[in-house]
Amino acid sequence: MNDKYKAIIGLEMHCEVSNTNSKVFSDSRNSYSEEANVNINAIDLGFPGVLPIVNKEAIKKALMASIILNCKQPEYVYFERKNYYYPDLPKGFQLTQETKPCPIGIYGEIEYYLNGEKKIAKINNIHLEEDAASLDHYASFSTINYNRCGNPLLELVTYPCFHNSDEALAFIETMISIYRYAGISEADSKKGHIRCDVNISIMDSSKDENDEKNYGTRVEIKNVCSLGGIRDAINYEIKRQIELKETNKYAEMEQQTRRWDEDEGKTFYMRSKANAIDYKYFIEPNIPKYRLTQEFINEVKKSIPVLPNERMQHYINELGLSEYDATILVREKEISDYYDEVVRLDVDPIEACKWVNTIIIGSMNKLEKSLSELGITAEMLGKVIKLVMNNKLSQNNAKKIIYRAIAENKDPLKIIEDEQLSQIDDEKLIVKLVNEAFDENEDVVRQFKEGKDYVANFFVGQVMKKTKGQANPNRTLEIIREEIKKR
Ligand code: MN
Repeated sequence: MNDKYKAIIGLEMHCEVSNTNSKVFSDSRNSYSEEANVNINAIDLGFPGVLPIVNKEAIKKALMASIILNCKQPEYVYFERKNYYYPDLPKGFQLTQETKPCPIGIYGEIEYYLNGEKKIAKINNIHLEEDAASLDHYASFSTINYNRCGNPLLELVTYPCFHNSDEALAFIETMISIYRYAGISEADSKKGHIRCDVNISIMDSSKDENDEKNYGTRVEIKNVCSLGGIRDAINYEIKRQIELKETNKYAEMEQQTRRWDEDEGKTFYMRSKANAIDYKYFIEPNIPKYRLTQEFINEVKKSIPVLPNERMQHYINELGLSEYDATILVREKEISDYYDEVVRLDVDPIEACKWVNTIIIGSMNKLEKSLSELGITAEMLGKVIKLVMNNKLSQNNAKKIIYRAIAENKDPLKIIEDEQLSQIDDEKLIVKLVNEAFDENEDVVRQFKEGKDYVANFFVGQVMKKTKGQANPNRTLEIIREEIKKR
């Protein structure tokens, strides 16, 4: 970025609460379906005379998120109507908790890490609301699928506390992993669970960032649905606004809402903030206010499992991993659980981390496979690492075996056993092979005796060749140094 300017970014992150059985105000199923309009009923469609019923499980999950984000909880749980009409919202209003003090959580903060560096995201509020239906647009017609209509949706509103797409993405990824660890949502952007509105303005770097008056004109990008899209939209918009500054067109830019076009890789003007909709919020009269007791809050608090940040602290402080490595391990609960299992097999934690973070995660990314699809269980990996640690197998051979096991869908230990690939640490054999190599290369031996120490590696290579890579290179080097003295 041009360092004359600084970007100021705030997020409204929507996450569908996918882990409840039913919708937030009706007993239709809350589940993803390929088939349109199968999980719907009269309440979801807003038929006249229907009444909403609040899903307690959805309240619990929202409250859990509020507690995790260190928010202040309201005295009462209640909902309000946000009035607007759109075909994806047949009732003509959305039940939400947007205006204070209604949200299930206000004024919180959460730590996140970017490249091993700790940062803090400031939370304005988190609230529970109902999702709208999904619209699909075709050349000459559109379809509406109400399956999603009425699903519980968490909207998390941050303060403008991010400065670039890396920070915004690191925060979003942290929230995704929290939602997954806590069992609130699968938070799968491929299923449309994650949708973000991004607020962006730029300001002069020389001015004080803590004074809002120094912020530039705010642009909101609506409804970006993929992590890559969020990154690209932020980068594009920062660049666009800086260009307006540099060409003296910035003053004409009005506060506005834009949309991100994934195919074009650009944001497009939608509407001016001057035409902002007045939603005429009022409290939903058909849902009684429900007092939020301390007992209920404590009960929900107790049900929160160990979260990524806590695991990270354990990895760093007790297992001695770097912040960078710990961040990678905790990103997915599945990986973190897997790593814990390898360590429980009495494998050195730092060694275990190297193998999991490079070979296992590397293979998952490269082959686009899940951990279970790779077929290397924690026990298999643990045993292979132990063979290496005990000098029974060279590091190189071990890696090759793991890659082969993945490619051929085999147990790595079976490969080792079948092909007798265990490292040769039979001292007598290595001594014999070292001397054999000396005899075959008298010239090199002479150079070695003359003090050219680097030729030692040549002999290591010779022994490796004779053992097909199975000798322990460190031990071989030691033996070479002992044996050369006898010459
Ligand atoms: Mn909302």
